[in-house]
Amino acid sequence: MITLRGLTKRHGDTVAVDGLTLDIEDGQVTGFLGPNGAGKSTTMRMILGLDRPTAGRALIDGKPYASLRHPVREVGSLLDAKALHPGRPARSHLIAQARSNGIPVRRVDEVLETVGLATVARRRAGAFSLGMYQRLGIAGALLGDPKVLILDEPVNGLDPDGVRWVRQLVRAQAAQGRTVFLSSHLMSEMQLTADRLVVIGRGRLLADTPMAELLAASASASVRVRTAGPDDLRALTDRLLAHDGVSAEPAPSPGGERNEIVVRGRTAGEIGDLAHRLGIRLHQLHSVSASLEQVYMELTEHSVEYATRTEKA
Ligand code: ADP
Repeated sequence: MITLRGLTKRHGDTVAVDGLTLDIEDGQVTGFLGPNGAGKSTTMRMILGLDRPTAGRALIDGKPYASLRHPVREVGSLLDAKALHPGRPARSHLIAQARSNGIPVRRVDEVLETVGLATVARRRAGAFSLGMYQRLGIAGALLGDPKVLILDEPVNGLDPDGVRWVRQLVRAQAAQGRTVFLSSHLMSEMQLTADRLVVIGRGRLLADTPMAELLAASASASVRVRTAGPDDLRALTDRLLAHDGVSAEPAPSPGGERNEIVVRGRTAGEIGDLAHRLGIRLHQLHSVSASLEQVYMELTEHSVEYATRTEKA
């Protein structure tokens, strides 16, 4: 488990990370999101003892990184896949890492196999594609068979097959009870991968929530409702619209059906109960979650450092 308490980092007048307090739990994948410059890398660097906090603490299983006895066996990390000697073969790079941490060489071959680089292990890393660099970086993170994995943009540069592989890998690691903390700009992928999300903007915590809750609570989440006939639909719509913060619009329907509406601001359960009280028969009641991309945009609307405008035609 990773524990952050009031974690803060200032660079002169810039507050890179501003009082983060949260727990990143074992046995699940926690996604870490935020616009560029939000403070994600700085947070990860402080957890890994590479940046010193201005205030607050970052602990791994209750201890600061610097006081871990066998750091590489306790925490595996990938921050910058390209930060390695380009002239060295991939296998030698991992062997050097293994030797300096008391890890047997046989483990190097194991992780090379796991990440799919066994056949190119003797090639210079400098000749690798970005995707291969990422796989090598992940191999390095897995080397010590650590309980905690911290991965910054691990799927950057991977092809769809590689992206899926990372998803399966981190989900399997979490299923074994490990702590996985990863950032990514690929929202649809994050939605499939993470159990929980931590979102920051301008260094501050914007959300720390299970994925399902975050998607369900979004203003973009909706419920599709179909009644037996148009009169019922009208009666139900009128009652729903009598409440503030509720919208009900005709559902887009290619067949021109008129018995369906899209409701926002009420859950499927609340709508079902209301219909029951009014004696209205429902033929369909279907919750539609927001996409993570929509929720993320809503959350970070006021936190983007480099905002762009969509030009009107
Ligand atoms: P992210 O990883 O979310 O893109 P960073 O953690 O890299 O964000 O940066 C957070 C903020 O801190 C940014 O405004 C960045 O410019 C600033 N920053 C990061 N590192 C330094 C540094 N060494 N010196 C000055 N400012 C920094």
